[in-house]
Amino acid sequence: MKIIDIQAAGLRGATPEGGWANEIKPDDCVHTLIAVFTDEGVIGWGSSFTNDRLVQASLEILEPLCIGENALEPERVGEKLHAHTFWLGRGGALTHTISGIDIAMWDILGKVTGQPVGRLLGGRYRDRVRPYASLLMQEPARLSEHLHSIRAQGFQAFKIGWGPFGRSSNTVDEQIVRAAREAVGPQSTLMVDAGASDAFWHQDYKWAARTAEMLAGYGVYWFEEPLAPDNLRDYLLLRKNSPVPIAGGEVLTRRQSFLPWLQRGAFDIVQPDVTKVGGISEERRIAWMAEENGVRFIPHGWNTALGLAADLHLASASKHTDMVEYLTGSPFIDEIVETKWELDASGMLPIPERPGLGISLDLDAVEKYTGKRFRLP
Ligand SMILES: [Mg+2]
Repeated sequence: MKIIDIQAAGLRGATPEGGWANEIKPDDCVHTLIAVFTDEGVIGWGSSFTNDRLVQASLEILEPLCIGENALEPERVGEKLHAHTFWLGRGGALTHTISGIDIAMWDILGKVTGQPVGRLLGGRYRDRVRPYASLLMQEPARLSEHLHSIRAQGFQAFKIGWGPFGRSSNTVDEQIVRAAREAVGPQSTLMVDAGASDAFWHQDYKWAARTAEMLAGYGVYWFEEPLAPDNLRDYLLLRKNSPVPIAGGEVLTRRQSFLPWLQRGAFDIVQPDVTKVGGISEERRIAWMAEENGVRFIPHGWNTALGLAADLHLASASKHTDMVEYLTGSPFIDEIVETKWELDASGMLPIPERPGLGISLDLDAVEKYTGKRFRLP
């Protein structure tokens, strides 16, 4: 089975806010869907965390390397793409685009072999996983109201991030966390994401260390991106000294970039994004590296339904991955699938058992957010 065509289309019209200093608007495109077509009619779907124009430009380089390739060999084809683009901007939009192609190829492999991707990755340790609801921080009263409404949807784990946290005062930081803990109750899992990969993040190690102490008082499960994302030295120090686990790594791409962070022990929890790092092939190797280095792997999932499906399969195939990120309030997660995501009574999400990624896209919803850009048979 050979690859004959690759198409991409950006999602816009309902892009959720990212909490960025330079805030994204609904019509901005930061997620692009990718479809890989084969000569036997099987189509695989993937997703890339970047703008569609960057994906289109990357595909001009990558697609010729894919045409005629065996559509059932995602890992080898992915390695070929990485190896042939070494000089052309590795780690950036090219790698993000390779991620989408790789996810689509695993989808194809699963569809052809009749197996869910997680089984092809080596086996399913679990059939369901706890999704944690991810949402932006707001001032305490509004955040509290928002958390109550999300809790009513059945979630039992929550992550609040970005917004005013670390950007206003220590007093405001604590008011936000106190309000959140009160809203979700003492039994729920609560995480806090400083979002220090935001532009011009100005806090330093002292703030992070002090804030980690404050978070411990509210039973916070992990403290995410508390430091500027390239500050390896302070991450090493903070992980050693913080009473709460330290999470990070969402901006890193390529497995090689994760090596020093994992080997030297910068994180308690590593959060690679499957739509950025190089896809499922790359992320499972990062997951393995994490495991060997005593770091938990819990995927970053601020992306799309296809990214979430890939995360679920990676979680099924990873020994210690019992949670995935669920971005709340995004039609690109909730609306573009035919069968809506549904939590069970314990707030768990079933991992698809059908072949491939195991989800079907609602093509009308895809068209609504991409325009008529996919030329499907
Ligand atoms: Mg984050």
